[in-house]
Amino acid sequence: MTDVLIRAVVATAAAGIVSGLGALPLLFIPDVPARIYSTLLGFSGGVMLGMATLVLLPRAADEGSAAAVLSGVVAGAVFVLLMEWALPHLEPHFGAHSFDPGLRDALLLAVAIAIHNVPEGLAMGLGYATGEEGVGPKLVVAVAFQNIPEGLAVALPLRRNGVRPIGAVAFAALSGLTEVIGATVGVVCAGLIDALLPFGLAFAAGALIYVMADQLIPEAHDTARGSLPAWGTTTGILLVLALGWIFGLSL
Ligand SMILES: [Zn+2]
Repeated sequence: MTDVLIRAVVATAAAGIVSGLGALPLLFIPDVPARIYSTLLGFSGGVMLGMATLVLLPRAADEGSAAAVLSGVVAGAVFVLLMEWALPHLEPHFGAHSFDPGLRDALLLAVAIAIHNVPEGLAMGLGYATGEEGVGPKLVVAVAFQNIPEGLAVALPLRRNGVRPIGAVAFAALSGLTEVIGATVGVVCAGLIDALLPFGLAFAAGALIYVMADQLIPEAHDTARGSLPAWGTTTGILLVLALGWIFGLSL
């Protein structure tokens, strides 16, 4: 388990830090056009949907009973819902509602995205815990791509509220590093109790689907009209599919 844990923590930390990359353009330009921003949010949602349905759920179903998989998905979705209830001011609105929030709201948004990153970390950690060659790295690369828009979503409101560019970039990178927590929990739990793996994979899938459907897709369409966010989502799914072949997986 230790070996898997070390590999998962290092890879997840790298994927998390990529969130800072998403914020880098703000060092050079003051703002990002709404059309680009919303397309990227749609893309982020597509990657989450692809990870859940193409990677996590098939593996959960391979190894677990129907009851474990179905209850895992529901538990993951309910977990995110409860998190949002418990932290009402942390409801992340990536787009229009908080396009110009105050500094306090901007910080809360950053924390919210950091918390929403925990299921992504869980997914990556459990990917390593499956022991199937290539699954962990595939999820890490998918999340890294997906963290670029999320980093931007953290940094943009901070920048608009006068936080210095380098501070906004650092905050974005930090928000991504919470994924290491999720990955550690995933690897340790699956390592201690074998039977938890299928449930955990389904749990991570349910949480990702819920965040995607509840936050990213609606916000993407709120921020800009037109078909661009939908093309972003489609591209996100294509990326997850392509990564499967690149890593030599059937999916
Ligand atoms: Zn992410």
